[in-house]
Amino acid sequence: MAAIRASSLRQKTVIVEKNHSLGEKLLLSGRGRCNFTNAESDMDVFISRYGQNGKFLYSAFSRFGPLRTREYFSSIGVKFIEERGKRIFPKEGGSQRVLDALLMQCRKYNVKIMRSTPVKSIKFKDGRIDYIITDDNEYSAGKYIIATGGKSYPKTGSTGDGYEFARRAGHTVTSLYPSLVPVRTRETWPKLASGCNLRNVRVTVLVDGEKVTERFGEMEFTNFGVSGPIIMELSQFVPDWITHEDGSEAELQFSLDMKPTLTNEILTARIKRDIAKHSGHGRFHGLIRSLVPAKMVRLILELSDVPEDKPTDYMSDEEIAATVRLLKDIRMNINGLWSFNNAMVTRGGVSLKEVDPSTMRSKLCDNLYFAGEILDLNGPSGGFNLQVCWSTGYIAGSVN
Ligand SMILES: Cc1cc2nc3c(=O)[nH]c(=O)nc-3n(C[C@H](O)[C@H](O)[C@H](O)COP(=O)(O)OP(=O)(O)OC[C@H]3O[C@@H](n4cnc5c(N)ncnc54)[C@H](O)[C@@H]3O)c2cc1C
Repeated sequence: MAAIRASSLRQKTVIVEKNHSLGEKLLLSGRGRCNFTNAESDMDVFISRYGQNGKFLYSAFSRFGPLRTREYFSSIGVKFIEERGKRIFPKEGGSQRVLDALLMQCRKYNVKIMRSTPVKSIKFKDGRIDYIITDDNEYSAGKYIIATGGKSYPKTGSTGDGYEFARRAGHTVTSLYPSLVPVRTRETWPKLASGCNLRNVRVTVLVDGEKVTERFGEMEFTNFGVSGPIIMELSQFVPDWITHEDGSEAELQFSLDMKPTLTNEILTARIKRDIAKHSGHGRFHGLIRSLVPAKMVRLILELSDVPEDKPTDYMSDEEIAATVRLLKDIRMNINGLWSFNNAMVTRGGVSLKEVDPSTMRSKLCDNLYFAGEILDLNGPSGGFNLQVCWSTGYIAGSVN
């Protein structure tokens, strides 16, 4: 986007790309469907999705915001559709269509693309970039845009090189964490339900026993913990929750309610009805089977103190109450995030205090600009992360 914008303004533009092909991560986005922006029309709401740092985007969004992005892609042949959560996807062709359309624009404006050319280092002189060094050459330019992405999914080429370049230019890089990533639990039992996808469940987050937030939707158990849309979204905040301000460790728990639409009383009544219906032959494992998805049965039986073969006729009121409590409050102790290898985005990046929000120009190095995920900006899933790339790329590529 930055290169297209610059070249469309008659700037001689070169993309120096480490990989042989461009847009490896873009091709993976939205599971190959590329959720490239979001149709949220209230700018304040849109910006609030990036947390505190979101306000940095007001200027960029006022020139090339989500609406302009949709119009732009439409104008270059990417028709789009809106789906659940106002997510915008290409109508046809998925990520490949988006990438092809962008590459076509590069061709149209004669952007030179140097493939398989990793930038190894950058030389600075008098507060400016003097030249960049690749494996076999040095290149100099009037203006440089670092758009090397974050450090998640490193096999796509985003290995975090740009953070080092930024540091060498004197920039602060804030702490980097994987984000939109599965979460690890101290307990090992989630693997008993690994692959089990739960819809319409509620996850409540507790820090030192106090509720901080909750989410309703879809989640999944994995071999090491939990994943799925609501967990990935919550993962953004795990680094904040897991440590107190003084650096000491907090107790972070997720509580899973498998039956969020039923009160304890209604669920108790339902279980009693079920027991009565199967009187004479009902067993505890059969009762659980009627209450949860098949892949969850093993896990619930493991977590319950009631023997799985126990005839349900003999279940005490306390055992029924404990079963209700279990279904509505499966506690997991969260002890971290999965690695950058599995994270959709990197939280943290080049400090926004050192970048001019109206130009994306470094405040420390005259001819240096930043665009995309390398900046300390990240949002939830839903098209918010690519929107940062389009908007900051467009601004960084503009002649100032
Ligand atoms: C699985 C997955 C799904 C996603 N789905 C979505 C989605 O649906 N919607 C959404 O909004 N976001 C999504 N994201 C996030 C989004 O894809 C990224 O935020 C976005 O691609 C970042 O773009 P970028 O241009 O800043 O960096 P990248 O896309 O990471 O591109 C950086 C480029 O720089 C190159 N590079 C790195 N170092 C060097 C170097 N030293 N020399 C030369 N070249 C270098 C890399 O090879 C790469 O081509 C997803 C991410 C993942 C991993």
